[in-house]
Amino acid sequence: MSQQIQPIFILPEGSQRTTGKTAQRNNIAAAKAVAETVRTTLGPKGMDKMLVDSLNEVTVTNDGVTILEEMSIEHPAAKMIVEVAKTQENEVGDGTTTAVVITGELLKNAEILLDKEIHPTIITKGFRLASEKALQILNQIAQKITVEDNDILKKIAITAMTGKGAESSKEKLAELAVSAVKQIIDSGEIDISNIKIEKKVGDGVEDSELIKGIIIDKEKLHPSMPKKIKNASIALVDSALEIKNTEIEAKIQITSPDQLQSFLDKEESMLMDMVSKIKNSGANVLICQKGIDDVAQYYLAKEGIYAVRRVSKEDMERISKATNAKIVTKLNTLSPSDIGTAGLVESKKVGDEEMTYIQECTNPKAVTLLVRGGTVHVVAEIERAVKDAVGDIIAALKNKLVVAGAGAPEIEVAKGLREYATSLSGREQLAVLSFADAVEVIPRTLAENSGLDPIDLLTELKARHDSPDGKWAGINVFTGKVVDAWQMGVIEPLKIKTQAIKSASEVAELILRIDDIIAAGESSSQPSMPPGGMPGGMY
Ligand code: ADP
Ligand code: MG
Repeated sequence: MSQQIQPIFILPEGSQRTTGKTAQRNNIAAAKAVAETVRTTLGPKGMDKMLVDSLNEVTVTNDGVTILEEMSIEHPAAKMIVEVAKTQENEVGDGTTTAVVITGELLKNAEILLDKEIHPTIITKGFRLASEKALQILNQIAQKITVEDNDILKKIAITAMTGKGAESSKEKLAELAVSAVKQIIDSGEIDISNIKIEKKVGDGVEDSELIKGIIIDKEKLHPSMPKKIKNASIALVDSALEIKNTEIEAKIQITSPDQLQSFLDKEESMLMDMVSKIKNSGANVLICQKGIDDVAQYYLAKEGIYAVRRVSKEDMERISKATNAKIVTKLNTLSPSDIGTAGLVESKKVGDEEMTYIQECTNPKAVTLLVRGGTVHVVAEIERAVKDAVGDIIAALKNKLVVAGAGAPEIEVAKGLREYATSLSGREQLAVLSFADAVEVIPRTLAENSGLDPIDLLTELKARHDSPDGKWAGINVFTGKVVDAWQMGVIEPLKIKTQAIKSASEVAELILRIDDIIAAGESSSQPSMPPGGMPGGMY
């Protein structure tokens, strides 16, 4: 394998090439650096990071994927770790830090094996075997739940939010998250896009609420538009009710080049025409993705039409789904069959600002979780916590299997892997044992981040897991005691754990197989890779 004939490359000037062990070590070092960055945020007692972007916007968070996205990491191997977090976020919506920390630890342990002259292909094979076995073990220890298990669902939500700035109101937020998910279950199917999380600064977290319908952060455009429309007929238009300058200019040349007044009349009549197209479709509510000209606003108000503009594409799609309205790109083609319906559209004051509420929709599955909080930073972190909670409840209900957390499943996996390793030959055995040690990074980090002694705690945890009813023995990070995590109510969807192990192992294997890095000599500002370093970002 390693004796392949190298083709002769004539690389362009400025390109960099790193091969063999150096390449491997650089990649491992970069991956470890990324994992190290987020490691201190793991668990309820994890610390937060303050991220300042190039525009001096501040984000305070301990959400793994948010941190990694904001860091604008450039090292190629480090970027692969960021992908692990993104996959986790997309597949489950929570557990991003866990996935990244395990990846880092797998690579750290692989490095020790490389030092012992164990070939990367043996290590990757061992990791693959270990990862498959780990998934089996997790499936064996998981407990079944049903949609009726409200108490467990609430605990899942609370576990997701613990330590995320939602502390004081987590009971209330957990209940909202559970009701939101239950509301959107549609003959067994759960479509997360039916839940909109809208945040608004002002009042306290406990003023957060669940609304059946959709809220958009837009106010009605004109003071004399109706404040409330019952039996709303809704038009969704994604073109502007404006006249572009170029259109006018073109017309100037073609029609009457000298008469200014007639252009203005023309412009007004074009806008009136647009408004009458809306009116003729039967709509009494206009939701526009683009702009609406002042003159058009005036005529819309005169016709008693409630209108909002510059609504996001995402909201347009949500409203379309909720009301059965079709999004129309060409105003000319708007017809009564494009119009959707809702029982009530109204403008409501939330905090200091008006928002538009679309309720009693044709599709009752659409809900909005309106998250409130005192400041921009608080409300943003609570939104992330609620998102994690919603993601976890859905993940739990999708395959109806859950595990306790607090380090318990990782200890159980490590224990099972060590037993399994004895059935393997020497070198693969070492790789599987390394994998087992790597998974234990989770309880070890939970202990460290809580200021507890990881060595003592891990010894005690392992001893408890050897006893017959010890499978959920985990760490109470608040008391420093080993407790039954299930009884403590720390419950998570099985999918968090399986996905984290699966992606961590896949990416670790991928990185270990690389023995050659060829970087094109970029002319742009991209810095080249320093050995083992991570350019830019926080390091
Ligand atoms: P992630 O991005 O991986 O979800 P978190 O910061 O949310 O990272 O931490 C998740 C870890 O914290 C999991 O291992 C989970 O079991 C653990 N955990 C959550 N709540 C508690 C708790 N109350 N006590 C102990 N551990 C907890
Ligand atoms: Mg989490």
